[in-house]
Amino acid sequence: MSGSHFVADKVSTIGSSGIRRIFDLAARMTNPIDMSMGQPDFDTPQPVKRAAIAAIEEGCNSYTVTHGLPALREKITAQLKAEFDWDPAVFVTSGVSGGLVLAMMACLNPGDEVLIGDPYFVSYKHLVNLFGGRPVVVDLYDDFRLDVQRFEAAVTDRTKLVLVNSPGNPTGIVAAAEEMRGMAELARKHNLLLVSDEIYNVLSYDGPAASPVRFAPEHTLLLRGFGKSYGMTGWRMGYAAGPADVIAQMAKLQQYTFVCAPHMAQRGCLTALDTDVSNHVADYRRKRDMAVAALEGTFEFVRPAGGFYVFPKVPAAFDNSTAFVEQAIARNVLVIPGNAFSERDTHFRISYAVSDDKITEGCRILCEIAKAG
Ligand code: PMP
Repeated sequence: MSGSHFVADKVSTIGSSGIRRIFDLAARMTNPIDMSMGQPDFDTPQPVKRAAIAAIEEGCNSYTVTHGLPALREKITAQLKAEFDWDPAVFVTSGVSGGLVLAMMACLNPGDEVLIGDPYFVSYKHLVNLFGGRPVVVDLYDDFRLDVQRFEAAVTDRTKLVLVNSPGNPTGIVAAAEEMRGMAELARKHNLLLVSDEIYNVLSYDGPAASPVRFAPEHTLLLRGFGKSYGMTGWRMGYAAGPADVIAQMAKLQQYTFVCAPHMAQRGCLTALDTDVSNHVADYRRKRDMAVAALEGTFEFVRPAGGFYVFPKVPAAFDNSTAFVEQAIARNVLVIPGNAFSERDTHFRISYAVSDDKITEGCRILCEIAKAG
């Protein structure tokens, strides 16, 4: 496929989807209304920055222990105890991506199946493939609810993991507590591990997002991050919590891969965990409402309740979402076609983590394109 003698086949086949064409087109845009970004538009809170700067000045520039600074682990542990009355093994990861990589590495035997709800976060399928597993995609269209029956229909005797992501990227859907309870029961019944990617857990606008930890803690590997909650995606910070044997193997593999999360960033995260970001959450709730109001009536979509995405359906007049997104790019608005996150190419992802003006103008142009289509 790549033609290179040195590159592994399983790597060269990654990323060969239609999305590449969109990124080529996007690279030629000047000053676009960029609604493609999967990160907050607010900066890291000042006290968190100061804590990391002070840590650098104080010489916190060496490795830490593999699991992360004891003070940070203690604070995470205390939060999980307070939230769930749960006392899991915990270690600090290099972002949620670091947790996902180590989870797949630690858990998958060749051919083990991993259930992934479609639409899904971009890395899930690739990571499963890279580490020898088999991604099994569970279609969740058109309402994107965490429908336990659809997952159960995909279970075989090779199924080992289920990737759960609520609030979800790209849909912004937050699973109901009863749906999570159903997934937890499924995990118990078939002895599965739910890998719960809760990177957006703080950004939940209509009440707290339910975690499977509440219903089946012994079947949950919890992955959380600091990047989206505290506007620090570049710091590469997250944590993993769950069954002691899985965490021990993941931490062992961390020694040979990431070694540890960045030392000064760990010190910053100690402060982040004490930092109130409710003003940002309120601001994104308001932006969610703005985007929903601007798109309603023109697009079909499920009202998002978390994260900072809306995943509308492309009107029937367009062949697929790539065709729609090409028109948006021609009008200087950058959004992502659904086939980046899905087996289908029928929807597109808008990020409303942008200025109010851009939400208004971007949504206006998208609606115009839809109506003209
Ligand atoms: N999971 C989901 C659902 C995400 O949206 C992202 C980031 N876009 C990640 C994981 C990766 O997070 P991190 O930057 O902490 O590695």
